[in-house]
Amino acid sequence: MSTDLHDLSVAQLAAKLAAREVSSVEVTQHFLARIEQHASLGAFLASDSAVSLAQAKAADARLAAGERTPLLGVPLAHKDLFVTRDFPCTAGSKMLEGYLSPFDATVVGKLAGAGMVTLGKLNCDEFAMGSGNDNSAYKPVLNPWDRARIPGGSSGGSAAAVAARMVPAATGTDTGGSIRQPASLSGITGIKPTYGRCSRYGMVAFASSLDQAGPMAGSALDCALLLSSMAGPDLDRDSTSLDLPVVDYASNLIADSAGGTGAEGLKGLKIGLPRQFFGAGCSADVLKAVRSALAEFEKLGATLVDVDLPLTELSIPVYYVIAPAEASSNLSRFDGVRYGHRAASYGDLTDMYKKSRSEGFGDEVTRRIMIGTYVLSHGYYDAYYLKAQKIRRLIAEDFQKAFTQCDIIAGPVSPTVAWKIGEKSDDPVASYLADIYTLSSSLAGLPGMSVPAGFGAHNMPVGLQLIGNYFEEAQLLGAAHQFQLATDWHTRRPPGI
Ligand code: GLN
Repeated sequence: MSTDLHDLSVAQLAAKLAAREVSSVEVTQHFLARIEQHASLGAFLASDSAVSLAQAKAADARLAAGERTPLLGVPLAHKDLFVTRDFPCTAGSKMLEGYLSPFDATVVGKLAGAGMVTLGKLNCDEFAMGSGNDNSAYKPVLNPWDRARIPGGSSGGSAAAVAARMVPAATGTDTGGSIRQPASLSGITGIKPTYGRCSRYGMVAFASSLDQAGPMAGSALDCALLLSSMAGPDLDRDSTSLDLPVVDYASNLIADSAGGTGAEGLKGLKIGLPRQFFGAGCSADVLKAVRSALAEFEKLGATLVDVDLPLTELSIPVYYVIAPAEASSNLSRFDGVRYGHRAASYGDLTDMYKKSRSEGFGDEVTRRIMIGTYVLSHGYYDAYYLKAQKIRRLIAEDFQKAFTQCDIIAGPVSPTVAWKIGEKSDDPVASYLADIYTLSSSLAGLPGMSVPAGFGAHNMPVGLQLIGNYFEEAQLLGAAHQFQLATDWHTRRPPGI
């Protein structure tokens, strides 16, 4: 068995599997050993080698029978926000400790159908609320680039596991940045598709009008391979899923790779730089890396234009009204009766609810339920929730104005590199402010991605954010792929990995 299987991309692993140079069982064993080796990063909440190896055997049987689908036999792991039949699903919360779903989330089922092998479930902030994975009820996740720092959140386990090559790829979810921000802070590639592109069925709900699944991997090409299997309508089970045909995001990229990167690979592409993303709020080291990545896009033939997203600052209060409002409603199902932890002893029914919910939810989730309940309450609804929804519409309209001047919008993902574990734990507002560059596109429902773009302070990775117009995932992935053909930031590995 090769010892460097973990250095291969999803595309390379798939090719080796298809050529039968290696079996899925061997690949799976290799990654299970990596998971053990790097267990101290805290990226995994559950793994089960017997389950994974049985899936790998089934993939090998399909390969032996001559089946050749792009992901057959390649392993991955899922953010613990997706329900799975074969692994428990906790959503990073004590509330759901030990919960075993009777069904698989649509996204999980689709990737399993494509022949991917599940290596386990990945740590995340409780109910996906957070920016540093320090809100997990189980354990923090350490950033493989510097174990004293957060990997980003809420899909921090996914980002750290990919960065440490414990898995070739992972799923994540993004409500206000939770795929893009951890991808940026951990030096990997991730894409949040247009709202509705991937089914939300079986994804534990946080804020339903914002939640979206997406892939996190080493490159745009690997993300494209996964997204092609994850996406697609699921109207019977998620009425907000987009009724659009499934796109093969990878084949154009593969054709581009074969042609090599032409100096003019992105000729004609107009990239809009929102003034509000390049101001004093962003640290100088991040801006420097982002600007030099943009210079690379210019070399590839793209032109840069200034655009305006004047309501960017308001995206923080708007998001932190709307998301908690929806969360307070979604999380009411965890009452110790229908779902979730039930207190061992209690008085009457109200006491049972109170004790079960107080014991089951952590501080940040409790805070959001309280904020959400408040902004939805009679007398405050118009002043907070309704007002926020109106500004949300204006934010979406500003993006449409900007897209009359450009094809793609670019900027930083996070105003700083990954911060120290604990640095923002006692100051939730400081953590909310760090979401400034990801929230507005989430509120608008637009696709966005993070692409490794260099390093900033403390040699920590910096991601470049690319935001596309609705349904333009293929364009985003194509631009990122051209950039990755011309640069090697996405191939860098954390020390010791
Ligand atoms: N950091 C944001 C929050 O805490 C986004 C989380 C997410 O996208 N799931 O709400």
